[in-house]
Amino acid sequence: MTRAISTPSRTKEILETYGLRAKKGYGQNFLVDPVIVERCAKESHCEGAVIEIGPGIGSLTEMLARYSRHVTAYEIDDRLIPVLQDVLSDYDNIEIIHQDFLESDLDEKVRELKEKYGKVSVCANLPYYITSQVLFRIFENQDIGCITVMVQKEVGDRFAAGPNDPEYSALSAEAAYLYQVRKLFTVPGRSFNPSPNVDSVIIQFVRREDDVPADVPAFFELVRACFKQRRKTIYNNLKEYWQDAEKAARILEETGISEKLRAQQLSVSDLRKIYEAGER
Ligand code: SAM
Repeated sequence: MTRAISTPSRTKEILETYGLRAKKGYGQNFLVDPVIVERCAKESHCEGAVIEIGPGIGSLTEMLARYSRHVTAYEIDDRLIPVLQDVLSDYDNIEIIHQDFLESDLDEKVRELKEKYGKVSVCANLPYYITSQVLFRIFENQDIGCITVMVQKEVGDRFAAGPNDPEYSALSAEAAYLYQVRKLFTVPGRSFNPSPNVDSVIIQFVRREDDVPADVPAFFELVRACFKQRRKTIYNNLKEYWQDAEKAARILEETGISEKLRAQQLSVSDLRKIYEAGER
């Protein structure tokens, strides 16, 4: 049986055969640790259809193809498309899409996969330069039940953060609102080629089934506006967002939230109160 793509020797061989060098601009760090890759795929609940962002040279893609019925992988780097088609040619359940994930029609793809396979999840080793944008985009789709992603440790800490923690951000508030967030395990820098200076973590988001606001994108927009200028008070950020000082003061009074607080001090339920009062 062929060695897994993620074995260091096979990765080296593939990079040499195709004359490839990791492109920093695309956040390329290839996983060279078969144990971690397999564990990630195994724990990702990818039994139905799974979407991967940034397959690279296919190390995680290969493992996902073994554990799920279908893999859809979006890769931006045109150099990698023929490589992926070649190294993954033994699998007939992988679709490689040559596209910037952020420009893809995710909702349409998820609808199609859900209809065919019943369940859709995401599993990826995300390019670090667009981690938040990619996650925000995925969070907006309610049909993705489980998201398992490798991110830089510092980003992982932001997800685990709560009000008053320095790392608490729009990302943490949104994530905690929609998902049960769990850190699965840490991945040391040496598990990548090239090795970054920082460690990574694998985080898993399992969608909450209960009460979520009807219009998630609008709620997210408000959360982001509240955190826009972290040093400013919630009143100032809301005033700017609504372009209406009177509305900002009225909503804060109605919800019993002090004008002097900063977004970082607000719980997810405070943010939701503001959103709902602002919509009325
Ligand atoms: N999955 C591979 C692995 O674990 O070895 C590679 C992960 S590497 C951290 C990130 C991958 O995302 C690279 O292959 C990169 O080219 C790709 N990528 C970067 N920006 C992207 C985008 N906007 N859309 C799709 N893929 C992207």
